[in-house]
Amino acid sequence: MIAALAAALLLAAPPPTPAFVVVVDPGHGGEKDGALSVEGRPEKDITMQIARLLKKKLEKQGARVVLTRAKDETVDLPRRAAIANAEEADLFVSLHLNSAPGGPGSKARGIETYFLSADATDAAASAVAARENADRLRTGPTDTIGGILEDLEDQANLAESSRLAHAIHGALVRGTRSPDRGVKQAPFHVLAGARMAAVLLELGFVSHPVEGKELARPARQEAIAGAVAAGVAAWRKASNTAAAR
Ligand SMILES: [Zn+2]
Repeated sequence: MIAALAAALLLAAPPPTPAFVVVVDPGHGGEKDGALSVEGRPEKDITMQIARLLKKKLEKQGARVVLTRAKDETVDLPRRAAIANAEEADLFVSLHLNSAPGGPGSKARGIETYFLSADATDAAASAVAARENADRLRTGPTDTIGGILEDLEDQANLAESSRLAHAIHGALVRGTRSPDRGVKQAPFHVLAGARMAAVLLELGFVSHPVEGKELARPARQEAIAGAVAAGVAAWRKASNTAAAR
């Protein structure tokens, strides 16, 4: 009797909800340092620290979180988006730090959030993409703007990427009180090929005399991770509401 009841309950149980999957990409790594801070710290170390904090915060929301690298290792740019595709991620977030063309001591500071486009929003956005794209290990036919245009054919992902970018950007500006440098678009190799909502965050300027030091401090990194997680939660809530309509 009890066994029959248990079997009936098991049959009636709803199928498990698939986990919400986030792939977090700590920019650079291994032989690729990224930008150097005013204190001489490589961008790859700071993005890794923030990625680990972000992972914990997203897991508290019930997400399954995968990092594109677990340690200080070289991972080619297309491989990072390929990991997100293989994990069937709901979203892909690439973490980076900005550096002003003037180098250490430059006055530029604040947050920029990017999603993919073949054409950059402006010359400054184009320069950011060129700097981040310089990590590409091998060049090939997929490195052309044409390849990026092909990836852009999925307009649904692009619209979701735009919504995700605005949700995270708003949360970051509020959560860190950093200057708002806007949501922009540019041709980033790390975003091309990702078959889900995908954004690249420039979380502050390591070249700024004050901001460059703050970005290496636990308090600022906690604030950044908390804000990104809040932005993801806001985007997820809005997407679920839209899906329910
Ligand atoms: Zn970077």
